[in-house]
Amino acid sequence: MIRSNLEKVKDRIASVKHTQQVRLVAVSKTRSVSEIQQAIDAGQRDFGENYLQEALNKIDAIGDQSLVWHFVGPIQSNKTAKISENFDWVHSLDRVKIAERLSERRPRSLRPLNVLLQVNIDSESTKSGVSLEEVAGIIPQIEKLPNISLRGFMCIPRPENSAQSFSKMAELMSKYPKLDSLSMGMSLDLELAIERGATIVRIGTDIFGKRE
Ligand SMILES: *Cc1c(COP(=O)(O)O)cnc(C)c1O
Repeated sequence: MIRSNLEKVKDRIASVKHTQQVRLVAVSKTRSVSEIQQAIDAGQRDFGENYLQEALNKIDAIGDQSLVWHFVGPIQSNKTAKISENFDWVHSLDRVKIAERLSERRPRSLRPLNVLLQVNIDSESTKSGVSLEEVAGIIPQIEKLPNISLRGFMCIPRPENSAQSFSKMAELMSKYPKLDSLSMGMSLDLELAIERGATIVRIGTDIFGKRE
């Protein structure tokens, strides 16, 4: 089931006309180790998690060094050390203070942590992320930190008008030619996101089925 779902998602990605490379992140929050293992057996390498303790348990139980772990959930400042030690990417950076702590806590034996600045593209009070207006002021403060590498942006738009929001993110991206990663698009709108330049899509439901 998970194997054929993954194939379908990859077919959907391939069906969209695009020139950029697209990285598929399987968002495995709430999924068991055995479900994740099925995806690994089908060739999946990138996984996304939202809750730190749950993620650490699974990373430890799976123990596969070839996997790439993405933290996509809200970040509390007392969790930054564990996140920085155990993940390869953070998509949900939304404060300079958190960036500083992630950089301080990144083990020197690892390459700089890849980070994406989360943008609250529809200015929703229920969602985290910086506003479009704040981005320009924050970027230089993140870029000067030694042990994290700012790669781009992430957003979780309102589903009703995601195409429009994706276009706004693409416009933002175009102002920063040194950045190379744009994380947007979930199960329902991955095609729209890729059409508008997503380089990372984050898919849960369409790979693992409906969450409880
Ligand atoms: C859960 C989650 C996803 C996956 O959503 P689906 O609709 O299940 O594909 C993607 N991104 C984030 C940040 C999530 O929390």
